[in-house]
This record gives sequence, structure tokens and C-alpha cells, in this order.
Amino acid sequence: MRIIRSIRGLQVWRRKHENQAIGFVPTMGALHEGHLSLIRQARKHCSTVVVSIFVNPLQFGPAEDFSKYPRPVKSDQQLCREAGVDLLFCPSSEEFYPQDFQTSVSVSGLSLRWEGVARPTHFDGVTTVVTKLLNLVRPNQAYFGQKDYQQLLVIKKFVEDLNIDTRIVRCSTIRESDGLALSSRNRYLSESQRRLATSLSAALRHGVQSIKSGKQHARIIQREMKEIATKLAGIDIEYLAICDANNLDPLTLAKGNMVLLGAARLGDIRLIDNMLVKAPKKF
Ligand code: AMP
Repeated sequence: MRIIRSIRGLQVWRRKHENQAIGFVPTMGALHEGHLSLIRQARKHCSTVVVSIFVNPLQFGPAEDFSKYPRPVKSDQQLCREAGVDLLFCPSSEEFYPQDFQTSVSVSGLSLRWEGVARPTHFDGVTTVVTKLLNLVRPNQAYFGQKDYQQLLVIKKFVEDLNIDTRIVRCSTIRESDGLALSSRNRYLSESQRRLATSLSAALRHGVQSIKSGKQHARIIQREMKEIATKLAGIDIEYLAICDANNLDPLTLAKGNMVLLGAARLGDIRLIDNMLVKAPKKF
């Protein structure tokens, strides 16, 4: 596995691999089975697999955990090697965003709701870094987790709007056996928070089951989901919503392809999760 740290180095490498089918997995490191499942899909579909590890300062708010975000460099490299990654790109913040950096990529509508309310600068940071990475790597396919569903839609939107010639592939969310979605931030959870954290996925699962069993009224389903999520004290729900899976519009009645979105706080730690569900035929 090659490791490249400079932008110039990556550009030279890319020119030497003009005819390869490149699969790309952008990450912020602290790799877990969720990231590895993306890498495995890229490995299956593409002749050359590129992974980037870059803790992107632009997507963290001023009060967020940028400086304490986990950076287990050596074990991440080892995991990439074992997963058959061809190239690991680890740019430095100084070179990626030089002092006179002035450009931002922004998806105006989708970025403003749900996660965008709690984290107003977050998606502009994501869209800017992913644009730069896609321009550098020029992959045929790039792999993103359903775990960050709104992020996936925002990325699909700018890739479509800016005519970027990369197919965005959605990969399923990988979960612990009790339902908690894997996340690099789960390692911050205390033992008692860890037990509480499963309530978020349990609430979403209840919502999915309710819709599948024919319930239609979003307000009622959402209330039940909230009851499940907050049965135990210590978890604050920011939102639990039933939305159109294509544009994240909140729905009053279950219909079509839906995504159930959830965000919760456990002390300082913020968790997000979601599940997709289709309305049963009789609706
Ligand atoms: P991050 O390192 O958090 O920026 O995540 C890098 C990529 O891994 C993103 O596309 C995430 O959606 C994806 N990812 C994170 N957690 C999971 C998970 N539990 N299952 C599947 N994909 C995930």
C-alpha cells in the first residue's frame, strides 16, 4: 500500500493511473467496521482502491470536538493495508487549506435542515472537502455510508449539480449487535451512556415496524418513537422525524420511500442514525 501525503504526489500518482477503475472511500480515520465495509465494496467493484484520511477542520463547529477527534494513525494504516487498499491519501491541513484559501462549495436547500440546524457550517465543510478530494482522486465510484444519510444526499446533489463524473454509491449502515450504529464517536461513550445509546436505533426500528404494519400518521408514530427513545433518563432527543427519502421533507402521512431520521445527545456526545422504509402497498 502506498501512502501519499502531498497534493502534488497525488496528482502525479493519478496521472500514472489514467486507465484504472478507481474506487474511493473518503474518511476522517479512527476506522471501524463501518469504514471497512465501504472499503470492501470498493475492493469488490474496482481495480484500484483509494482511501483518504483527513480530519477536516471545516466541518467542525467552533464548540465541536476537532482537536480531540481520535487519530489512531498507525492502526488505521494497518487496517487499510489488511483491507487491500492500494493508496492511502493523508493530506496535511496546512497544504489542503492554505492561509489564503477562499472557496466554499455549498448546497443551499438540503444543507439547511435537520443536521444543518444543529451544525450550521457543517455541510459546507463536507461539500468543500469532498469536492476537493473528488477533483484530486477523480474516482469512477465513491463510497459513502447510509449512516450519514443527509450527508449522502447533499453529496449526491452537488455531484449532480456540478457534473462531477463520479458515481456515488450508498453503503448500508453497520451496527453493533444491539443495534447501535458504529461511529468513531462511540468510543467517547461511558458505560452507562453506551447502554442508553441503543434507545435511538430502538426508536427508529419501532417507527419502521409501525409503518410496515400500516400505521400512517407521522405525529403518532413520532410520539411513540420519542417515548421509546427517552424511556430511560440521560438521553436528549434533538429530532426524530419521518421524511421523504429523496428530499428530507417532513411528512405528515407515511407514503412512498421514507427515511426516519434521528439525532440525540448523551452529555457532550451527539449521535445520529436513520433507517429507510417503504410504505406498504395498501397505502
Ligand atoms: P467519517 O470517517 O465519519 O467521515 O465516515 C467516513 C464514511 O464512513 C462516511 O461515508 C460515513 O457515512 C461512513 N460510515 C461511518 N459509520 C458507518 C457505519 N456505521 N456504517 C456504514 N458506513 C459508515
